[in-house]
Amino acid sequence: MNYIVLDLEWNQAANKKNRYAKILPFEIIEIGAVKLNDGFQIIDTFQEVIRPVVYPKIHHISREVTGFTSADLQQGGHFPEVLKRFLTWCSSSEYRFCTWGPLDLTELQRNMNYYKIPLFPSPLFFYDIQEVFSIINGESANRRSLEYAVEFYEIEKKKDFHRALSDAYYTALIMAAMGAEKILPNDTVDTYQQPAGPDDEIYMRYDTHSRYISRTFPSRHEVMENSEVLSTRCCICDRRLRKKLRWFSDNSKNYYCLAFCKNHGYQSGKIHIKKNDKERYYAIKELTMTDSEGAAALYEKRVDYTKKHRTKRRQKASAAK
Ligand SMILES: [Zn+2]
Repeated sequence: MNYIVLDLEWNQAANKKNRYAKILPFEIIEIGAVKLNDGFQIIDTFQEVIRPVVYPKIHHISREVTGFTSADLQQGGHFPEVLKRFLTWCSSSEYRFCTWGPLDLTELQRNMNYYKIPLFPSPLFFYDIQEVFSIINGESANRRSLEYAVEFYEIEKKKDFHRALSDAYYTALIMAAMGAEKILPNDTVDTYQQPAGPDDEIYMRYDTHSRYISRTFPSRHEVMENSEVLSTRCCICDRRLRKKLRWFSDNSKNYYCLAFCKNHGYQSGKIHIKKNDKERYYAIKELTMTDSEGAAALYEKRVDYTKKHRTKRRQKASAAK
């Protein structure tokens, strides 16, 4: 098994009213990748610049981040051809993708979709090394920058950040520093393609948490009415758990709950509702082991939410008078 550590740079519309801004918010302008063998040793690299056609002028943010000028990008290849070379390069052996953060494979597939290029077989499992870094350092709610992790492992900073190949290279060195036994149990799944039906829904179980990806529904409301979405099963023993706190929301996208397993203790639940490109909604649910402190924090969150709600209701009531 090889590991393809992938990093993309992208350009974006100069303004949100651009008619492509919805279907292709980020146009890929560079693919950088490092190929690792199963001992996490670097065996090859890939780097190509892509000439943007949807947004030919480089956005000032992308220019600042990457250092590319519009003239540099004119030298690049056409996306479908670069992608073909990249995928041929990847497939010299069986492989899994690794990225720093959850975005690259989603944006890669959105660009493929724009050009009507067949997507990867679904579900697309991969390693989000940024997430793995959080998990193994016990700070699951935190996402650290690549530079932070480079400093954490005392990796020498020989290259600039925010160019595709150098970021892939740093991610590869971080993986070598973490070691396979910490990384391999913590794979995740890209959700650009969602499960087609109830039988395709995705269940993943880890040491101290579990993750579930639902199929899509026409509305947020219908997601939150589905019994499978709302169910809480122990992330260790899979037993159906009673909730100490029912699902509640502090905004429109996230819901929280607290459940208790008599063998494995408190577990905090979180549902994140996402909308796909076809305006359909799906849930990503996570259950994570927690302690009485974590449970207390959830009770507090719930109290805050109730207070806010009450103030809002009062304001509404007094406005109606
Ligand atoms: Zn249990």
